[in-house]
Amino acid sequence: MIRKRRFFTGRVARQVFLLFILSAFLPFAVIAALSYVQIRQLHIQSGQQRLAVASKQYGMGVYERLLSAAEIARNAAEFPDRSSRFRKLAQSRFRALGFVDAKGGVRSLLGSIEAPGVLDAAASERLAQDKPLVLITPKEGAARIRLLLRSDASGDLLIGDVDPEYLWGDVDQLPAATEVCVIAETLRSVLHCSAPMPQHMLVSIRNSPSEYTFKSFGWTTEGIAQQSVVWAEFMGGEFGTGDWLIVMSQPESYRARVASELDDFFLPVALLALLIAVLLSLRQIRSILVPVEQLAGGARRVAQRDFSARVDVRTDDEFGELARAFNTMSEGLGRQFAVLGALAEIDRLILSTLDTEQVVRLIIERVGGVLSADCVSVTLLDPDNPDLARTYIGGAQAAAEIGMTRQQLSLAERRALQASPESGWTPLAAAEQAYLQPVRDLGMSMAYAQPVVWRNAVCGVLVLGYQTSPVVTEDDRKQISDFADRVAVAISSAWRDEQLYQQAHYDALTGLPNRLLLKDRVNREIARCQRAGGGFALLFIDLDHFKNINDTQGHSLGDRVLKETASRIAGCLRASDTVSRLGGDEFVVILSNPQHPKDVRAVGEHIVHKLSEVFQIDDHSCFLSASIGVAFFPQDGDSAETLIRNADTAMYRAKAGGRAQVVYFEEAMNTKTVERVSLDRELRRAIERGELELHYQPQINLATGEIQCAEALLRWRHPVFGIVPPVQFIPIAEEFGYIELIGEWIFRETCAQLKAWRAEGLPPTRVAVNVSPRQFRTDKLVSIVRECTSLAGVPPALLEVEITEGVLVDPRGNAEKVLRQLAEMGVEVSLDDFGTGFSSMAYLKRFPVHKIKIDRAFTEGLGRDKDSEAIVASIIAMSQALGKAVVAEGVETAEQLAILRKLRCNQAQGFYFSYPLRAAEFAEFVKGRRKAA
Ligand code: C2E
Ligand code: CA
Ligand code: CA
Repeated sequence: MIRKRRFFTGRVARQVFLLFILSAFLPFAVIAALSYVQIRQLHIQSGQQRLAVASKQYGMGVYERLLSAAEIARNAAEFPDRSSRFRKLAQSRFRALGFVDAKGGVRSLLGSIEAPGVLDAAASERLAQDKPLVLITPKEGAARIRLLLRSDASGDLLIGDVDPEYLWGDVDQLPAATEVCVIAETLRSVLHCSAPMPQHMLVSIRNSPSEYTFKSFGWTTEGIAQQSVVWAEFMGGEFGTGDWLIVMSQPESYRARVASELDDFFLPVALLALLIAVLLSLRQIRSILVPVEQLAGGARRVAQRDFSARVDVRTDDEFGELARAFNTMSEGLGRQFAVLGALAEIDRLILSTLDTEQVVRLIIERVGGVLSADCVSVTLLDPDNPDLARTYIGGAQAAAEIGMTRQQLSLAERRALQASPESGWTPLAAAEQAYLQPVRDLGMSMAYAQPVVWRNAVCGVLVLGYQTSPVVTEDDRKQISDFADRVAVAISSAWRDEQLYQQAHYDALTGLPNRLLLKDRVNREIARCQRAGGGFALLFIDLDHFKNINDTQGHSLGDRVLKETASRIAGCLRASDTVSRLGGDEFVVILSNPQHPKDVRAVGEHIVHKLSEVFQIDDHSCFLSASIGVAFFPQDGDSAETLIRNADTAMYRAKAGGRAQVVYFEEAMNTKTVERVSLDRELRRAIERGELELHYQPQINLATGEIQCAEALLRWRHPVFGIVPPVQFIPIAEEFGYIELIGEWIFRETCAQLKAWRAEGLPPTRVAVNVSPRQFRTDKLVSIVRECTSLAGVPPALLEVEITEGVLVDPRGNAEKVLRQLAEMGVEVSLDDFGTGFSSMAYLKRFPVHKIKIDRAFTEGLGRDKDSEAIVASIIAMSQALGKAVVAEGVETAEQLAILRKLRCNQAQGFYFSYPLRAAEFAEFVKGRRKAA
């Protein structure tokens, strides 16, 4: 088992085990060792004691046997002829027994007896007192022990040689392996030795008995260690002889054997105790460390994000409690991680895709996996089509595929959702809400609905369906709301993207595709034509004089005109055509697959016509027209850029050619047209190099037929492109701030020309100079006019300035003051392009304007449409009522002239009389007219 193998790998396990062993075994071992030493010691001591006791007993035994022998001998002395039984007793104690009378005669009772030598006085004294006396006769090996007694009856001396075998007793009676030696202290002779004892030991004991007596001591003989005890048996009192020293010896090895018996039993017991200690400690350690190990393992797995880890500790102790807490924790963590993981995955998807449906499908999958719902549905409301909702449904109980159904959401239902967008439970049996039906259809009995809210608006509903009554914790609610938030984010980012796309590709004002989308559409059209053949036309539409409306009426009215323009253009097209707004008053139309170039012209003219109709906005009436340039694919370009640019060029042509017309692009135009960008650079040089010149167009007094005046029109003689018309470079000059410089040059040139003509003798003809609104922003204009006229020596009254209504309403300018100063100098003021912007009579009254110039667009309509004639008639009538002269511009035909005459127009200007002429030509023209007149 893995657990067992791992058991001792832990450091703690090893330490606890060691500690356990030390604490259990060490005291035991110390006690055991101490007691072992003690027991051994006791053993040795008791051995010595036993030896001492044995030697004492032995000594007393010898003593008693000697007493007994003396008793027998006394009896024998009293009663010499005793029974045979007594004889036997005597025989057992003595070798020889007999009497010696006073004369030295020997009478043996037993064995043969020798007479003793002469007894000393002390001995005789003892015998006389009837006390036994022991005489020792030293002999090699063993001494002879003789017992002497004085017989009371006869006075004879009884002598008995004590049988040594009797006296020293049976060796077998001694303790095991014990040997004994008896030494007579006073005689210093060895009386008996059961086994030989080394002479030196005997000698040293004999010589100093007090050192050995009653003591235990060791010695060695023939390599065998011996232990001996000496017992001193007192013999003086009873037997009249010195103490006998009983030396009792035992080999050390004998006692060691006894000790080794102790070892034999002690060691197994000690080992057994150790074993028990080990087993007990293992058991105890396991009961502590196995749960700890399991908990640690569980924690490791949790750390590795394996939340399925459960710790299986079933005890009722703290470990069990800890394990249960751990399991709860890891389950909770597991769920939280799963939720976080799912949310993160959803977030990644939201970031990477704008496909709300894909996100919703993932959310359904993940919600089903993380929360214990039987099915999950997400209903999405469509902001553009709010009563039609889509519901996606999936989950454990749904089919493997996530399905989608469409529902009709009633207004009441949407209102109810919006009124209380809180989550809550609904029993499905009686549920009416359409968004709950798909869940109910799957056989669910309860639903938990979480509305999806974005910017305070309900944009969907997340529904969790349950077959039975579910347990949904506070945590679950929080998570469900988190998932709902993701749905909201997905929806909002899709909406936002849609908005961004709209902003990036559509014009905010008109809702038409912008330049970006136009290019895209053109490129697609190119691709389509390259694939399928065919071609298409690009119409570049620019409103004529739109600037005037913006300037005079303000932007809000201008914006409404542009919207109206957009819808009028769209009204002229098929659904398959594209109309886009490039910005300002520029529109581009793609006409796919035109049958014939003529069709394109027809459409273009239709647009021009539609845009020439009066724009009625609130109580303002505005008149506009449009210039249209047309480029064809593939003839006029193979890229969106080229086609748009060429159509633009053609449009400029249309403007230059008198506006309100459709002009096809021709390659030749490009060679004559200068790119706007390079124009800027070149224009600066043009002033310095004298490439600018003025042409003069006469204005004819219709009453007298005289040349009333000449309009100075600017020309740029470009070294490469030839004559560049002012519509192409004056806006640039205005934009880049050259117009003041150019304006000053025009005045100087005009005055110089007036002077030259006068010198030539030409009748004084007034010259009208076009002044751009920018020139009115400073006071310089007045001083320039004054300076130029005085320099050339011409009266200011020969000058006229042509301004547009824009000058009058320019909030940055001080038109009124400048105009008055000019008027004071005698300079006349004419209002150019009248009728195109909002033509306010109030301005005419307020400002010192002397002349009104009716815009060419109206002159053009004369004889062709009644509207134009009516407008021209009313302008003339009103202006003259205010005391202003009226000039009609762009008169090209006799018919137009006739109508103007009929309407009592004061003056006329146009190709009918003359093109704008160079100064010399103009002089000729004047002279010619004079002659004619
Ligand atoms: P505008 O002031 O309305 O000038 C009249 C334009 O009508 C001139 O175009 C003239 O050539 C053209 N025109 C005259 N009679 C007829 C006709 O019978 N039929 C047709 N279709 N057109 C006719 P141009 O010279 O190309 O000038 C265009 C515009 O450039 C002028 O319009 C004026 O706004 C501006 N412009 C011209 N010269 C100057 C200048 O010296 N200073 C400023 N600030 N602007 C100028
Ligand atoms: Ca003019
Ligand atoms: Ca004009």
